[in-house]
Parts: sequence; C-alpha cells; structure tokens
Amino acid sequence: MSRKILVTSALPYANGAIHLGHLVEYIQTDIWVRFQKMAGNECWYVCADDTHGTPIMLRAEKEGITPEQLIARVHDEHARDFSGFHVGFDNYYTTHSDETRQCANDIYLKLRAAGLIETRTIEQYYDPVKQLFLPDRFIKGECPKCGAKDQYGDNCESCGAAYAPTDLKDPYSAVSGAKPELRNSEHYFFKLSDPRCETFLRRYTSRDNGVLQSEAANKMQEWLGAPGENKLTDWDISRDAPYFGFEIPDAPGKYFYVWLDAPIGYMGSFKNLCSKNGLDFNEYFRPDSTTELYHFIGKDILYFHALFWPAELAHAGFRTPTRIFAHGFLTVDGAKMSKSRGTFITAESYLKTGLNPEWLRYYYAAKLSATMEDIDLNLEDFCARVNSDLVGKYVNIASRSAGFISKRFAGQLAPAATDLPAIKAIQEAAGRVAELYEAREFGKAMREVMALTDAANQYVDSVKPWELAKQEGREIELHAACSNALNLFRLLTVLLKPILPVLAGKVEKFLNIAPLAWQDTQSLLAAGHGINAYEHLMTRIDAKLIEKLLEANKESLAPAQEQQSPQRHAEHQQNEAKAESPWEPFCNIDDFMKLDLRIARIANAEQVEGADKLVRLTLDLGNDETRNVFAGIKAAYDPAQLIGRLTVMVANLAPRKMKFGLSEGMVLAASDTTGSVPGLFLLSPDSGAQPGMRVK
Ligand SMILES: [Zn+2]
Repeated sequence: MSRKILVTSALPYANGAIHLGHLVEYIQTDIWVRFQKMAGNECWYVCADDTHGTPIMLRAEKEGITPEQLIARVHDEHARDFSGFHVGFDNYYTTHSDETRQCANDIYLKLRAAGLIETRTIEQYYDPVKQLFLPDRFIKGECPKCGAKDQYGDNCESCGAAYAPTDLKDPYSAVSGAKPELRNSEHYFFKLSDPRCETFLRRYTSRDNGVLQSEAANKMQEWLGAPGENKLTDWDISRDAPYFGFEIPDAPGKYFYVWLDAPIGYMGSFKNLCSKNGLDFNEYFRPDSTTELYHFIGKDILYFHALFWPAELAHAGFRTPTRIFAHGFLTVDGAKMSKSRGTFITAESYLKTGLNPEWLRYYYAAKLSATMEDIDLNLEDFCARVNSDLVGKYVNIASRSAGFISKRFAGQLAPAATDLPAIKAIQEAAGRVAELYEAREFGKAMREVMALTDAANQYVDSVKPWELAKQEGREIELHAACSNALNLFRLLTVLLKPILPVLAGKVEKFLNIAPLAWQDTQSLLAAGHGINAYEHLMTRIDAKLIEKLLEANKESLAPAQEQQSPQRHAEHQQNEAKAESPWEPFCNIDDFMKLDLRIARIANAEQVEGADKLVRLTLDLGNDETRNVFAGIKAAYDPAQLIGRLTVMVANLAPRKMKFGLSEGMVLAASDTTGSVPGLFLLSPDSGAQPGMRVK
C-alpha cells in the first residue's frame, strides 16, 4: 500500500545566501523524497523562507527598504538557488503568510486554553538610541570570565563561556553602539517545564520510541535531566515592538518570537499546498493521522525540533513528527568553511562558475549516512570521485555501446539476456539499495551501486563491442552486447535517479522510455525497442573550475561585519544549548596515523646557553638512532633529572632550524591551557616500553 508522507527541510533564514553547507540538508532531503516518489509513495516536500525577527528588520532598514521587500527579494534568490541544485520542493513558501499566521494563532490559543502559556515580567537590555529591546546577539561587551573584548551577549568566542547578556562587562548595543539600559517588559512563556510537557517529552524522545537517532535521543535525556530532575525551562516566545513578525492575539505590541513561527511555517507551507492541490490538511495533522511526518534538520537546531515543537503540537491537539532526522555540518577540506580561504562557497557562485549541480549531489550522497557526523567536502577527492564514478564508470557504459545501436541497427535493440549475471545482480540488489535509501544510508547505497557499475563495465570489457564492430559476420554478437550494455545502463540509472534526476531525464529521453520508477529495476527493454541518438551525458570536472570557484568566494573579512553562523543565523542560535562540540573539527584516523609517535629515551639533557626556556635533549630511538630536540621545558625540569627516563616524541615532525641548532622532533608534555594550573608535565610510558616503539 502506498504511504502518505510529508517531508520538510529546515527553513533558511531570509537574510543570507544559500551556501554549500545549507545544501547538505536540502540535497539529502531531496534525494530521500525523490526516492519515496519513485517507490510509488505519495510524498510531499515543503519548505519556506524563515522571514521574521530583529535581524531582518534591521537589515531592511539598513538597505532602506521594507522587510516585505527584503524577504521577497531573498525568497526569489533562495528559490533560484534551490532549483539550480534540482531541489524539488512541492511548495517553497514563506513564513510571512496568512496560513502561517493562522496556524501560529491557533496553536498559541490552544496552548493558552490548556494553561501552558503564562506571562512574566523580565528585565532585558534596551537600546535607548534605537528604541528597541536587544536580542542577545546584538549586545556586545567584555567576557565576564576571560575579559575578551567585543563578545556577544550569549557566549564568548574566545574562551567558550556561556552566560546571560547581563553578565557582560561594559555592554554596548551592536546596533547603535549605545550603552544599553535594563528595562522591564512583560513576556509570554510556553511552559515547557510543566509536568505534562515533561512526561510527554520523556516518552517521545526516548531511544525506544525511535523518533530520534540514538545520539540525539541521548542528548535529549541530558537536556531533560535524570528522572525526577526536570531540567526543562520555560520558553520565552514573545518579543516587544518594534519587531518584524506576527502580533500575538490580544496582546498589542507583543510579537511571536521568530523561533515560534518557524516550525509552524512547515504547516503554513503545507496548508498553502493543500489549497492549491486539493489535499486534506487535517488528514496530515490530526492527532490520529496515519500519514507520516519527517523533519530533516541540522544537529544545531535539535532543541527546537525535538523539544519545543513536538510539545507544542501534542498540547495543541495536533499529531507529532514521525521522525526527526538530524545531520552534521559541512567542512571543506577538513576545516570549517572560511571566507578568507574561499571555502565559504555560495550556491550561486558554484552554479555561475559552471560546475554541474549533480556532481555535488553525487558527492554528498556518497558521503552521507544516517548519523549526525559532519561530512567533509574534500575538493580533490570531489573531482577524483565524480570523474571516476560518474563519468569513468557509469556514463562510460552507454557511451561505449549506444553509437553502434544507432549506426548499425537503426536504433533498435536486440532482446536482453535475462540471465546475464551483471543484470541479475542489479535486479537482486535493487531491494537492498531501496532499504539503504529509506534508511538515509546514501553512502552505503552508492558503494553498492558502484560495485554493480563495475560489474557492468566488466561485462562490456569482456565482450568488447568496439572489436566486434570491426569484424565481419559478428553483427548478432555486437547487437546483443550493446543491447545488454544499454539494459545495464538503464537499470543503474534507476538506482541513481534520486541523486541525478536531470541526468536520468536525459537518459530517459535517449533511451526513449517513460520516466523511470523503482519497479523498473525488475524489467528490461523489449526486443525491437527503438532508442534516440546518444547525446553527451556528463563531462568530467576540470580542476581549474575548482580554483575559479575558490577565487570567486574569497573575501577579505570585514571585522566589523556581523558574523553569520555557517549553518543558521545568529538569532536562532541564541537559545540553543551549545550543540557544537569543542572537539570539532574532528581528526580522522588517517590524519592521526600520519603522526609517527615513538618512545624515546632521554640519553642526554643540557642547558642551552643564551636560551631561557630551552633544554637540549638527545633522544635515543633505539637501533643507534638519536635525535637532537630543543624542548621548552627548562622552567619545569632540571636537565640532570631527565637523563635516562623514557618519554614520547613526534618522530616525523619536519626538522626545524633554530637559533641554537637543528631540532629534529618534539617531546610531548601536558599543560593547562587556561593557565590556572602552572607547570609542564612530560609524558612517560608504563614500564616495559622500549625506545623506538610506535605509540598509537
Ligand atoms: Zn571569554
């Protein structure tokens, strides 16, 4: 039976350009949705621009236009970029819509009737020049912990401390520079700490319930606290005028906080689609709905989607999400996207440089899994993998066989060999590949598809159509070989179609067939089927294009400019528990294995004349190999005491010429980077270790 599925991607904020980091999510979602549609399910994919909040209001003011004009322009840009990457929304709407307003009011009034809304007077910073209450991110000052200047009101980028804006020393408004005043204001709160919400969320977010990935479910248990210890805090859902957003019913001058109406924007967009397509909105959102609802999000906004949003829905009489799929962030060449390196790549520049969007779709797919791990766009690997997999392997099957069918057999196919092992292998694998798509294990799916592609190429290599074509009297063999190859190509195209929809469209045209669906993996082209002339399907990536792309994205950083979060805009970040780990970006095992760490015996240690910090160490690595290393440990160790002890050194550190001689490595020592515990502590191995042993 066909399933009824509603899918969303997180709403991009309407004050910035779509970049390759955003696209991880939209491409991931789009692939999943296209797979569902190909599998015969009724699947709707909706999204919208997230248009409200202080940043939009201030930016419009700065540009001398109305917020409505700003969000209309950005909507066009976003829609253009998404369509450029073949993200096939069924509706791409805006949260600044009647539908979203109605849904927001409806949810709010139902929550209020349920006793889950309360008002409280809070003290908040107010900009007396600009005459507005300042969001945390628009207040700057000195970090209360480390004293770093110009830090945001919610956390310090220098020492990582989190705090309230009122903790900042010498605060100032990032909008006007004025000294902010503390003023009282009445705010509306959603009572997330209410026992009803807690009980619901403990069940809803539990690992057993399966709504969340297990790593996300664990995070929720942390946020909820141990049973009996309710760590949920009420959520401030109102903002004071002036604010660009929806005014709260019966509360003049009070507006819904942008994060309240952002997820409601999913409903608003779907409601709009329903009115256009004659769908029944209630069938999808009533509490006993048998339809499925999935949200694809970045791991940074789990708090909003896994706690606030389902708690609101459950207590306002709606269904809750079936599953929430969180993904990691994008790194480029192993590091955070950077404007100065040119790796903060916008969608628009990628397309303008002439890069094929399906190259990126394939590369992301090959890297994506169902986990929240970050994925890395390694630009060299990107070129190599796309050129090898898509052009060298997949397209090659058609380009080596189609011409003969057109020229020698009037474009008509011979019967396919139903028992050909390469054909049977694809038909048998189709179910497994479908399961991998369903489970969002796209990387695993692509490994499987490429193994099948290899087998198809091996078949073509074994029958060598180009040689058969030169020999007289082998027409039947040539016809069969090329027909089999095109059947293989068609089957592989089905498996790749969720990722490469445009390429698949070209293949459908060239093979002269109806749009491919998943079930087409179980059939073959009939004998006598006529194909159209083969046209070039995909070119290789020229590495020069990548250089051009990085150049186009290089910017000198304007320090005064409001820095945007790479994934989500600033105001969205302010209430969130820090989801980003201090351990990122991670180093993978290959990176780690590049370090050659060895046990070394300190054969000699002596003072270095003229150096206040250095000790000259002669390190014995066994097998008569010694190294001269200058170590900055004089303050902590008397050289005489070091002689004879074992320690750990980096043996493959590039030699470095210093004032006192060549240093051929480095010894490892621990220290407190905050400086509160003085001293340096050399590492020692357990007894039994011998000089020269590898440490890993
Ligand atoms: Zn600090």
